[in-house]
Amino acid sequence: MASLPYSDALIHLREALPDSYFCFPGSREYDRENSYYHSAVHRCFRPICIFLPSTTEEISTFVREIKPYALRDEIRFAIAGNGRQMFLGCNNIKSGITVNLSCLKGIEIDEDANIVRIAAGECWGRVYDSLEHKALEVAGGISDKSGVAGQALQGSPPFFYSNNGFICDNVINYEVVLASGQIVNANAREHADLWRALRGGGNNFGIVTRFDMPTFKQPGIFGGLVKYRGLDYEFRGQIKAFVEELESSNPSKHTHITIAGHIFEHNDIEFENCIYVDYPTTQWPSSLMPLVPEASRPGRGGVERTTLAKAVKKVTDFEHYCRYNRRRFACINTTLKPDLQTLQAAWDIFKRNVVAAHHRHRDSILDMVFSMSLQPYTRAMLESSAQKGGNSLGLSPDLGPLVSVRLLASWECADDDETVYDIIDRIMTLIRIKARDNHVEPVSYIDTTYSTFESYFSSEDLNALQNVSSTYDPEGLFQTGVPGGFKLFTI
Ligand SMILES: Cc1cc2nc3c(=O)[nH]c(=O)nc-3n(C[C@H](O)[C@H](O)[C@H](O)COP(=O)(O)OP(=O)(O)OC[C@H]3O[C@@H](n4cnc5c(N)ncnc54)[C@H](O)[C@@H]3O)c2cc1C
Repeated sequence: MASLPYSDALIHLREALPDSYFCFPGSREYDRENSYYHSAVHRCFRPICIFLPSTTEEISTFVREIKPYALRDEIRFAIAGNGRQMFLGCNNIKSGITVNLSCLKGIEIDEDANIVRIAAGECWGRVYDSLEHKALEVAGGISDKSGVAGQALQGSPPFFYSNNGFICDNVINYEVVLASGQIVNANAREHADLWRALRGGGNNFGIVTRFDMPTFKQPGIFGGLVKYRGLDYEFRGQIKAFVEELESSNPSKHTHITIAGHIFEHNDIEFENCIYVDYPTTQWPSSLMPLVPEASRPGRGGVERTTLAKAVKKVTDFEHYCRYNRRRFACINTTLKPDLQTLQAAWDIFKRNVVAAHHRHRDSILDMVFSMSLQPYTRAMLESSAQKGGNSLGLSPDLGPLVSVRLLASWECADDDETVYDIIDRIMTLIRIKARDNHVEPVSYIDTTYSTFESYFSSEDLNALQNVSSTYDPEGLFQTGVPGGFKLFTI
């Protein structure tokens, strides 16, 4: 990239847009906006300037103005929805401009059309709260602070995935600012190729400013975060129950299950199952009983008859409980077939290596916490994706069922970044080797920076996405001008 200064680009941007929309290092606004990221790693990126648009038109002006400079590689920019994603560098940028969408607010419920129109700066908690007043729901994310934008553009599972597919499968219209600055709607009738590409395509095609999603009646749900301190054999038993449910000939389409183990400092271990059914009961269906440890059964705390709006707040409560706030995070992910031996071995590898790392770094690294979570992609979920018009994730129903294995690390000090990244990279490598030894070829892999994105994409899928990029962004503004996240021509 060409050397400093960026002044020409900034001068033009500040001429075209109100000065108050830009914040610069040294100001209180800058510090506030740059600290809204979930991971403190991203707070350290310190862009030269943060742009805070509140309308789609302002974003369009920004794109038009910055484009010539970005294409000459004189400046780059990042796009941040709600800043919750933990993959390194995906939503903030050093020495560039960050487009922070947090002021782009608005949740418009159209009861006649059964649609909610959600601006790109919204988070799921606010969407669920707005819909709850009208006894409506939407197929959104499981954490109230998680951004709608990031999740509706990637392969994130919603609550009750089996009937809903991925969150992006439920976006029936994206309003998007293209590289030309033009504002278009992408849906099944207009720019259908772009609509499908955006369903999983991340920030490769433009800045999405609004997401339109269908609403539905939901009379209530039942479940909760079931936490228990147990022994390894119990978690191995949970993995078995999880795999049996996933592989059963008729798995319920009405459940939401994620199981996780967290290893804190001093190797204190806590397990956590996020488990819900999508109807208002007070009893677990018998098929789920193996996933509900004795201590958390109804009447003993942990689970309740509830709503999505309340349920998502529990996830955030738990983050606070884990002291996750204001800490550094790294995330790494692979997707495997639900092979019991492999998944149990993955836990053993994870635990053995975390315990060793805690021991090795006991005097040097403060307060490292590691988590391993297993999230199912049921066959019904992949079928729902296809029925809702498909996406760009390249996952066909015959690949299912699958399990997304996510490792998360959290720590305190920037000095320890490299060490912690090495630890989780190494653990994931060992898990993937073990899977291959068991003849379970990993279906996908995303590294901690999102720069390695081995995916379900066939080369045909990838070519199709590259063609969409060439049609709507022929000069590659969102490929080179926005370096964060996975990029279509370098994966
Ligand atoms: C407690 C917790 C639980 C989580 N659980 C899950 C989970 O179950 N499943 C899961 O998949 N993820 C999960 N995540 C990760 C994260 O929430 C999401 O993956 C998601 O990216 C968050 O959305 P965001 O708007 O905050 O994204 P951001 O971090 O702002 O952005 C993510 C990516 O999307 C791009 N982007 C954002 N907005 C736009 C836009 N408007 N136009 C174009 N590109 C855009 C960014 O450039 C970036 O590359 C979790 C995170 C936390 C903190």
